[in-house]
Amino acid sequence: MTQAFDIVVAGAGMVGAALATGLGQSGFRVALVDKTSAPTFDTNSVPDLRVSALSAGSERYLQQLGAWSQMLAMRMTVYRRLAVWDQAQHPLSKLIPRKLGEVVFDAASLSATHLGHIVENRITQQALWQCADEQPSVTVLSGNGVTSVANGNDRATVTLEDGSELTCELVIGADGAPSRIRDMAGIGVTRDQYAQQAMVVSVRYLGSVEDITWQAFYPSGPRAFLPLHSADDQHPGESWASLVWYDAPGELARLKALDTESLMAEIQKAFPDDLPLLTHVDARASFPIARQHAKHYSQGRIVLVGDAAHTINPLAGQGVNLGFQDAACLQSLIRETRRAGCDLADPQWLARYEQQRRPANRRMMLAMDAFYHLFSNRIPPVHLLRNLGLGAARALPFARNQVARYAMGIDDELPAVVKQITSRLPGLHLP
Ligand SMILES: Cc1cc2nc3c(=O)[nH]c(=O)nc-3n(C[C@H](O)[C@H](O)[C@H](O)COP(=O)(O)OP(=O)(O)OC[C@H]3O[C@@H](n4cnc5c(N)ncnc54)[C@H](O)[C@@H]3O)c2cc1C
Repeated sequence: MTQAFDIVVAGAGMVGAALATGLGQSGFRVALVDKTSAPTFDTNSVPDLRVSALSAGSERYLQQLGAWSQMLAMRMTVYRRLAVWDQAQHPLSKLIPRKLGEVVFDAASLSATHLGHIVENRITQQALWQCADEQPSVTVLSGNGVTSVANGNDRATVTLEDGSELTCELVIGADGAPSRIRDMAGIGVTRDQYAQQAMVVSVRYLGSVEDITWQAFYPSGPRAFLPLHSADDQHPGESWASLVWYDAPGELARLKALDTESLMAEIQKAFPDDLPLLTHVDARASFPIARQHAKHYSQGRIVLVGDAAHTINPLAGQGVNLGFQDAACLQSLIRETRRAGCDLADPQWLARYEQQRRPANRRMMLAMDAFYHLFSNRIPPVHLLRNLGLGAARALPFARNQVARYAMGIDDELPAVVKQITSRLPGLHLP
């Protein structure tokens, strides 16, 4: 069976589902295809292992799509403060008390009500699937992956696992970091695997949910605390949190293999004293982390968004926020392309998408890379330098707040001076 659409979105993760919803709202006939089945949510369920810190910019975008109210009705956690500090132990660290190097970003000092929300990925995804499904011009096809794409002169033909075919003017590859759509388009990537991996652990602790998230930097990698929601009635006075522990793959493999009690003891010992008393460790998983950038964002009738186009080190939790920015940008350019009466795969319009998004994505990649190298370094002068850097960030609240407002999505643009500095950082020749 062959069905005709304007656009096929391959991959209904958070980014693909958002883009399909927005395009449906603009009246395009869209097929949103995913190889997995629809995500589900139950209020009594334990938290999803995958959580994301969503910026104020992402919140605005998800509100426009109509997904935010549904996400709020499920569950999410607001955070108003973000603390970062260097926890490396070294003779020189005695010279610098922790509080001197600690930087706390506070919504109040940024003239904002909050810095962001921590949301389980499946909640964002489920709300977006529902929004997409409610659009009369969007057809959601789940449990049926894309197996091939044929780029034709006038239209592309997308074949699914069950043998059915979809024709369209434009195929959007939103199928994540190991994107097959990208491979089918013949688009290569530049990729650097970091020496660290990230282990994510869902835990319950004694205490209430607070509005602070924190990250302590150790030479082996950061350790972060992301607050979630209160536990159920059977665990009064307890709350859920998501912990992220970055370390060498071998060390994380050892930790993952421990029984629950031993892992809880290791976490309690290895994390800073700020970690509340843990009462339960629920689930754990580790993820390889890589900086990856597609060499082109489009080829023929295929265009890439989200992790299919770029992945960054998740240490500042920016990946899906960048993906939503790709989606918003592409959606508005596709509308303009149609208004101009052009083919939706017109190379000039698709080039504009890349011109707008590549520099912003690259800038964030560079910033995360610089953080990674600066904080994973054990050399004493570098240790001193980064503490001086944190000290400078404390001492220069205006500059710090400008960067923070951008990182939190409160402002759309980085201050011009910071843009200039990041574009001139030496030694980091990223595409
Ligand atoms: C440890 C960790 C922590 C992170 N924390 C944050 C954070 O705090 N904030 C943040 O912004 N980002 C964070 N990120 C990054 C964020 O998770 C990703 O950027 C985001 O999930 C990418 O979304 P996506 O929709 O582009 O891709 P994905 O989430 O990978 O979705 C891809 C979809 O495509 C589908 N698919 C794959 N192949 C096919 C096919 N052949 N046919 C059809 N469908 C297909 C998959 O089933 C999936 O649903 C983190 C990442 C990691 C690893």
